[in-house]
Amino acid sequence: MINLLGRIAVLRSTPAAPEPCVIDVGGRDVRVMFKRNARCKRMIIRVAKDGSGLVMTLPKRTSQIEALRFANTSKSWILKNLSERMPIQRFENGAVVPFRGTLHTIMCPGGKRGLVQHDLSANLIIVPGDTAHIHRRLTDFLKKQAKQELIAASQIYASAMGVQFTALTVRDQNSRWGSCSAQRALSYSWRLILAPTFVLDYVAAHEVAHIAEMNHGPRFWRLVLSHCKNAKAARHWLRHEGRDLHRYGVRAS
Ligand SMILES: [Zn+2]
Repeated sequence: MINLLGRIAVLRSTPAAPEPCVIDVGGRDVRVMFKRNARCKRMIIRVAKDGSGLVMTLPKRTSQIEALRFANTSKSWILKNLSERMPIQRFENGAVVPFRGTLHTIMCPGGKRGLVQHDLSANLIIVPGDTAHIHRRLTDFLKKQAKQELIAASQIYASAMGVQFTALTVRDQNSRWGSCSAQRALSYSWRLILAPTFVLDYVAAHEVAHIAEMNHGPRFWRLVLSHCKNAKAARHWLRHEGRDLHRYGVRAS
């Protein structure tokens, strides 16, 4: 009885686990969830069962700052263990990466720096210039392409739905494909350019629809489905294939 009471007292005085956060590991956004275990003597870090990020178990008094400092010193371990579940494909000569849903080979002929080119017929993405800069140059190219496509798609849906957005940004976000703020600012993951066009299109329709309906209620879905005929297929695609897009273009650490 005394033991049990003692244990309850220990549990009661254990502070709540910190809120989840996202950290940068080798240019990749990695979601970190925290758990608190009063009996745990040191921090434990592991890959989440679904491979979606990390789970850190913290002793009673460890703060989030200490936990993140620890994660920071474990970056190579994290990258290795995350990539065992999801083999990373870096941007390098000969690598095969999806672009608008079709696999393309990255070709780096070397030589003078020039524009990155997309050869549709041969499924090639040609990145001229110094091979040391392939990662940055190709990422810049893909972000630019993503932004162009997402602006075009968002504008089409905005005028069809009779709404307007105030800003549009493209970035690398691990946890979601897009978001819409109360100020009507749209934000998307650049990795959508790797997915088939109907998927990028659906994410744009989804976020633009949030300008009219800031929820996922029946009216929201009616609006999305009435303007985007591939919504169901795209949601299915994202659920099953979406995570795979995070394998690509992870910066060498
Ligand atoms: Zn939504």
